[in-house]
Amino acid sequence: MIRLGLTGGIGAGKSTVAKTFVERGAYIIDADKIAREVVEPGSEGLAALVEAFGDDILAADGALDRPALAAKAFVDDDSRQKLNGITHPLIGARTQALLDAAPTDAIVVQDIPLLVENHTAPFFHLVVIVYADAEVRLHRLTTMRGVGEADARARIAAQATDDQRRAVADVWLDNSGAPEDLAAAAARIWDERLLPLEANVRARRVATPVPELVAAEPNPEGPSARLVNRLWALAGELATAVDVVDAKSVTLQITARDAEAAAGLGDRLADGGFADAGPDAYGSCDPGRPATVRVTVG
Ligand code: ADP
Repeated sequence: MIRLGLTGGIGAGKSTVAKTFVERGAYIIDADKIAREVVEPGSEGLAALVEAFGDDILAADGALDRPALAAKAFVDDDSRQKLNGITHPLIGARTQALLDAAPTDAIVVQDIPLLVENHTAPFFHLVVIVYADAEVRLHRLTTMRGVGEADARARIAAQATDDQRRAVADVWLDNSGAPEDLAAAAARIWDERLLPLEANVRARRVATPVPELVAAEPNPEGPSARLVNRLWALAGELATAVDVVDAKSVTLQITARDAEAAAGLGDRLADGGFADAGPDAYGSCDPGRPATVRVTVG
């Protein structure tokens, strides 16, 4: 099983990519959908919100009146924290329940509009960013999704920048052209990169790099910086340092806390997409991003 984070600015074309992935067999977890479900009528979440903010956050039909809630919850940090304190654990639990139910060979696609803003990129095997220029997105949102121009501009301005997205991108899907081109690019990524990556992770097998995929690396500096973050996310308390040994060959090093920690890293790295490649060495399972990870004891 692998987990893929799918994101992009509002109006970039995530829905098109998610649809293509679903057609090809993705196990989709839609963050926006879950955020709505945990506060739907009759839910524990909605009851807790009413308890915290009063029953004038309800519309006449008993459903959550979002603008009314926003008017109360976004006035100060305390109120915002109260809101997040109610919804975030429920969203987390529901997401985890869906992950637990995924088949062992699933390619889980987590569609998360605010993935970059929430700094969760390192927790995925792969992050796919859908890109379209802000003016293009503005045009599509106002003409095709009926969003008012001022509203669309405000939402775009409140989100991460293209540079912040590029810094965490393993795959960059450009949606400046026709929707069919985007769907075709997404289908190719599924067939040529995601399917082999999933099979390699499950078999704990190092990938054979595919030059065409490797050349599509989105970050001009190469993948090392984001791999450091990913290795930290995998190693956690077992590591005292994660360093880039050589950015050109994408060789990284984890310093394990002690010998026991070094032994414990093997399973975490394998599950995270770095399979055993000889004594104290691990290799990337991703055909699009070769990397070597060495483990030493500090
Ligand atoms: P997101 O899910 O990233 O917010 P959508 O997939 O909903 O964005 O796309 C925003 C709008 O732009 C939708 O109405 C969609 O149909 C339209 N759209 C997406 N890609 C293209 C494209 N390549 N050309 C024209 N319109 C597009």
